[in-house]
Amino acid sequence: MFTLKSLPYAYNALAPHISEQTMRLHHDKHHQTYVDNLNKLTEGTSLAAMSLVDVIKVSAGQANKAGIFNNAGQVYNHDFFWDCLRPADQVMAIPAALLEKINHDFGSLEQMMVEFKTIALSQFGSGWAWLVLAGESLQIIKTANADTAFLHDVNPLFTLDVWEHSYYLDYQNRRGDFIDAVLNNLVNWDFVANQAGL
Ligand code: MN
Repeated sequence: MFTLKSLPYAYNALAPHISEQTMRLHHDKHHQTYVDNLNKLTEGTSLAAMSLVDVIKVSAGQANKAGIFNNAGQVYNHDFFWDCLRPADQVMAIPAALLEKINHDFGSLEQMMVEFKTIALSQFGSGWAWLVLAGESLQIIKTANADTAFLHDVNPLFTLDVWEHSYYLDYQNRRGDFIDAVLNNLVNWDFVANQAGL
């Protein structure tokens, strides 16, 4: 039985950059539906007792398990996404070791954000943009639909949901404005540094 993870902050904590209305729909409707569908699709099978990560691994690339993969991937990606964000009023400096690594691999924090925005804007249709560790190097990648970074032999540090349900109420078609607002105001840098082992 898979369960919906609670948000690590209040529904209105990300406003004005992401509204309470968006968060209630995104978490309580979209994320919940992925959990419910995953439970329905795995009920009575050996997958029901597996970890979410294992369900993703065994269903990836299996045509007869596409529904399971899509819902499991979306549950995992949303669980991870919520942890990547911090309340809008929480002041947080980037940990020095992480900033040093970003400066080394991208030239500057600003350049990293430019590259992240470019990749996030270039995801055609639904998907996710990620900051990852590929070996020893920070990289920006994107995945389509429910695909998830760890399947690509990288360690995910941060993700942004660029499905339209993530931003359309607040930003309509302006995905770029949504990306800017999150990168400049809502990134949980402590979580990112922890994921990177820094
Ligand atoms: Mn979403």
